[in-house]
Amino acid sequence: MQVLVQKFGGTSVQTAENREHVIKHIKDALVKDYKLVVVVSALGRKPDPYATDTLLGLVDYPANKNSARELDLLMSCGEIISAVVLSNELQKNHISSVALTGAQAGFLTTEDFNKAKIKEVNPARILKEFEKNDVVVVAGFQGESETGEITTIGRGGSDTSAAALGVALAAERIEIFTDVNGIMTADPRVVKNARPLNVVTYNEICNLAYQGAKVIHPRAVEIAMQGKIPMRIRSTYSDELGTLVTSSRILEMGMDIPDRMITGIAHISSITQIKVQTKESAYRMQSEVFKAMAEAGISVDFINISPTGVVYTVPAALTEKAIDILEVLGFHPEITEGCAKVSAVGAGMNGVPGVASKIVQALTNAGVQILQSADSHTTIWVLVRANDLITAVNALHEVFGLSEINEPV
Ligand code: ADP
Ligand code: ASP
Ligand code: MG
Repeated sequence: MQVLVQKFGGTSVQTAENREHVIKHIKDALVKDYKLVVVVSALGRKPDPYATDTLLGLVDYPANKNSARELDLLMSCGEIISAVVLSNELQKNHISSVALTGAQAGFLTTEDFNKAKIKEVNPARILKEFEKNDVVVVAGFQGESETGEITTIGRGGSDTSAAALGVALAAERIEIFTDVNGIMTADPRVVKNARPLNVVTYNEICNLAYQGAKVIHPRAVEIAMQGKIPMRIRSTYSDELGTLVTSSRILEMGMDIPDRMITGIAHISSITQIKVQTKESAYRMQSEVFKAMAEAGISVDFINISPTGVVYTVPAALTEKAIDILEVLGFHPEITEGCAKVSAVGAGMNGVPGVASKIVQALTNAGVQILQSADSHTTIWVLVRANDLITAVNALHEVFGLSEINEPV
């Protein structure tokens, strides 16, 4: 029995018309004699009635109430509704199918509500259902803890559900269907001439995904990589094959192709920069600031420490919490809200001189002020004002010629 896992995101299942495209892809796979696990996200986007953010808008817990457990109960309904709706339509199309919740599909998770980790996927129920059905539709993004609590696994988590099922069932492939034609050199909503990439390695795309390319969730890529299951990211609305994600791009004669210098440009908006200056002992201040942030569960980025102060960033949603903590400690932070992080990602930049200089020049020529920067062997990050985000991403896409070629040389 050959198994294929197909995942359809929120916009792909949004309307009956969109779901006709979904059903076409399912039929195409069934003709090839696959047994299919179809993982679905909640229907559509806010303000659609059963979209995750719409469901979240139904409740308004008091500020000091720990509501995480009930929010998971609420959010899990979105994907369950979607699974039932699609299964019903498949049955109307004379396709044998059954809908399962994440828990019924065998997802055992930790009990970290809203961000649970998958501990195990037991595919026994799915295999049993394959005796009577060609398609098992699974509600993505959710599971169950050992004590029977319903959990969700973090926003965008249906990709991860699909990858975990692909590994548990030793699927031939995991296909992630979405509203764009695969993984592109930048978000096509920001860069009009972004190009789709035909083949990328797990590592390349994992970096891009961690830096904000939300077309695929980075945990999904990591899970598929561990299980060595190839992934395809492709459009629900076409027959094009999109992007293949695999362990290496192999030349015909069996040689590995070297990494691309720059795979793509990614971005994350809604970031706040915080500066804390001190005239007294900077050592005390540094350790107090970062210890307090860690204890409050605030993840910090772009950390710059100097003898006179520290500069770092936090997600915009945590700005007030961070300021309160610093003020209680007696510091007077300087806050720059409305920042964005732009990343040039590519494993092949390691050791290549001039990459940073190109980035600085391109941004300077485009009139974009760099507020901070950082780099690793595969990524160069710059912090810019959110108003400059589109200009910055386009300038970097242009300077590395990503709309023309993007194959390694
Ligand atoms: P789904 O609901 O199918 O999971 P998402 O909205 O999570 O879809 O992801 C698809 C979106 O990701 C695209 O519409 C696109 O705007 C965005 N995106 C960001 N970076 C990239 C990229 N490098 N390549 C393709 N799409 C990207
Ligand atoms: N519906 C969930 C979300 O909006 C999970 C997903 O779409 O992958 O985050
Ligand atoms: Mg997604």
